[in-house]
Amino acid sequence: MPDFQSILRTIYNSATSQIEKGRVATYIPELAKIDINNFGICLKIVGGESFGVGSFNTPFSIQSISKVLALAKAIELVGESIWKRIDVEPSGHPFNQLALLEVENGIPRNPFINSGAIVIADILLSNLKDPKTDFLNFVRDLCGVDDINYNTSVALSEKHTGFKNYAAANLLKSFNNLENDVEDVLDFYFHQCSLEMTCSQLSNTFYFLANDGYCLKNKLRLTRSQVKRINALMLTCGFYDEAGEFAFEVGLPGKSGVGGGIVALLPNNFILTTWAPGLNKKGNSLLGMTALEQFTTNTKLSIF
Ligand code: GLU
Repeated sequence: MPDFQSILRTIYNSATSQIEKGRVATYIPELAKIDINNFGICLKIVGGESFGVGSFNTPFSIQSISKVLALAKAIELVGESIWKRIDVEPSGHPFNQLALLEVENGIPRNPFINSGAIVIADILLSNLKDPKTDFLNFVRDLCGVDDINYNTSVALSEKHTGFKNYAAANLLKSFNNLENDVEDVLDFYFHQCSLEMTCSQLSNTFYFLANDGYCLKNKLRLTRSQVKRINALMLTCGFYDEAGEFAFEVGLPGKSGVGGGIVALLPNNFILTTWAPGLNKKGNSLLGMTALEQFTTNTKLSIF
C-alpha cells in the first residue's frame, strides 16, 4: 500500500506554499469571518485506515456538500419518484442561476444546484416528522458521532441575504413544484447548509457512497444502483459550472461547498475530503482542487 500519510503531507506542503489562495465567500456574511489559512485533508480507505493532515479535525460550514446527504435521505424516503420533479443534467451555470428554471417550467436541472436542492428540502419536509432533527440524526448516524450540529448564526445570516434562494423557491412554487410554504422550505434548506463538520467526519459520512451503500457501521443505507446514481450526479453536477474541469483535473465524483470543503471518492477505494476556505472564481476551493488533482495524479487512483 502507498504511504498515504507522506503523500498527503507532501501535497499539503506544496499546496500551502501556493501564494494565490482564492477568496473566502462573503455573500453569506457569517462565512466571511473564516480564516483563509485553514487547510485540512482527510483520506479514509474503504475497509481500512484514515489519514489526515492540517485542520482536518476542525469543523467548518459544509454548505452545498449537504445537498448530497439531503438527496440520499430523499431517495431513502421516497425512492425514484423524486426524478419526476428534478432532472439529472449538468446546468453549466452557477449554482444560483434562475433563468433555466423559468425556461424549463420549474423543473431544476439537477439536485445539486440550489433550485434542485430546494425541491429536495421540500420532499424532506413533506416526509419527515421533525425535519431538522430527523435530518441531523440521519447525518450523525451515517457518521457514527453525536456532536454534529447546525450553526444557527450561519443559517440566520443566509436567511437575511438569501434573496436568490427566495426567488428560486418562489419560482418553484409558481410552477407547483413546492408542496410546502416557501418560508418553511428555506428555513430547512438554510439549516441543512449550515451543518458544521470536519474533514474526518465528512469522509466517514460519505463512506456508504464508496462502499456500495453500506455505511461505516456496515448497515445498508441505499441500494447499489441508487449509490451509482448519486455518484454519477456528483461527477457530472458536483462542482457548479466547473464539473467538467474537476472531472478533467481530478477524475473523481465529488461535491464542493462555498464553505471551502470538497468531498471526493473512488468507489470501493477511498473517500478524500479537503477544506480550504479560499474559493476560485467558480466558487470551488482553490487549494482543495489543487490537492485533489495532485493526489489522483501522484497515486494514479481515479475512475479513469
Ligand atoms: N447555502 C448556500 C446557498 O444556497 C450553498 C451554496 C453552496 O455551497 O454552493 O447559496
